[in-house]
Amino acid sequence: MSDQADLLPLKTALENELSKLSQLEEIAGEGAQVVELDQSKVGRLSRMDALQQQAMNVEQNRRRQLRIQHIKAALIRMAKQDYGYCLDCGEDINPKRLEVNPATPYCTQCADTH
Ligand SMILES: [Zn+2]
Repeated sequence: MSDQADLLPLKTALENELSKLSQLEEIAGEGAQVVELDQSKVGRLSRMDALQQQAMNVEQNRRRQLRIQHIKAALIRMAKQDYGYCLDCGEDINPKRLEVNPATPYCTQCADTH
């Protein structure tokens, strides 16, 4: 991946995803405040639903945070012209793999071990 021109579509894809995730982040932040667990207002079942929903939100938030970190790290590697190499073995990452997931820091083989 020495040709920076090839990176432009990947960089654009990463930046677009990052801005979408940031928007979701704001929405999720507001949503978290809406969840109420007041027993006087909701029955036991719906309270459990609410707890379950909250747990799912937490998990989704966690994954989104992780994804945001991966994208930011990939953009930094692009800026350093250090993009497209596996962080584990240092080999070139298959360009097809980068097209599918531009934020991936590992080659196909190493990704299995993570
Ligand atoms: Zn590797």
